[in-house]
Amino acid sequence: MTLVAILSGAGISTDSGIPDYRGPQGVWRKDPEAEKLVTYEYYMSDPEIRRRSWQMRRTGPALSAKPNAAHVAVAEFERTPGVSLRVLTQNVDGLHQLAGMPPRKVLELHGSARSVVCVRCHARSSMADALARVEAGEDDPACEKCGGVLKSATVMFGENLDPVVLGEALGISKACEVFIAVGTSLQVQPAASLAGVAAEHGARLIVVNAEPTPYDELAEEVVREPIGTALPALLKRLG
Ligand code: ZN
Repeated sequence: MTLVAILSGAGISTDSGIPDYRGPQGVWRKDPEAEKLVTYEYYMSDPEIRRRSWQMRRTGPALSAKPNAAHVAVAEFERTPGVSLRVLTQNVDGLHQLAGMPPRKVLELHGSARSVVCVRCHARSSMADALARVEAGEDDPACEKCGGVLKSATVMFGENLDPVVLGEALGISKACEVFIAVGTSLQVQPAASLAGVAAEHGARLIVVNAEPTPYDELAEEVVREPIGTALPALLKRLG
């Protein structure tokens, strides 16, 4: 079995109508008021920020988006005989799983926008249920078990990544034979370090991204074509 890791960033989901929120050029970084809605300290200390955050989640594209050709190609590649695929994603949209990737083979480095979590008792439940409560008139729905503050199960600014998820991602990056970075600028952690670790440990590094990345020189192959066509072609060739 050949262990292949695909690291995906915002660029794989733009064809699904989800803009880059978190990246250096992302929506949130360019708009300080919007960034407050996803910054842990503001979110926890200010109920008005939470009310606006729920409205943003209610109207945002994350839950209604559909997987595109690149997500589908990744899920099909997972079924290639002789290939063991793991997806490490910076995205919180769950589109890899919706396209057919087995959830246990997808590591969500920044969490999932499809779930909510209580900051006090850590109970998880579905975002759709929480948004239904917002629709029904609760402007800042609290945890139904303990009354604690509910937040999206994503890693907000000011929060640490889950060390278990990160450790697993590092292990895969060290062990894989092929590491494909798709739609990520490789400029923010942990994405950058994962690509570096993979290259240091002898993986063939392939970069598929519209813009140059700091790892292009280490890459065996750099693809600048649109992801929606380039990634399916690349995976077909590798398969
Ligand atoms: Zn709770």
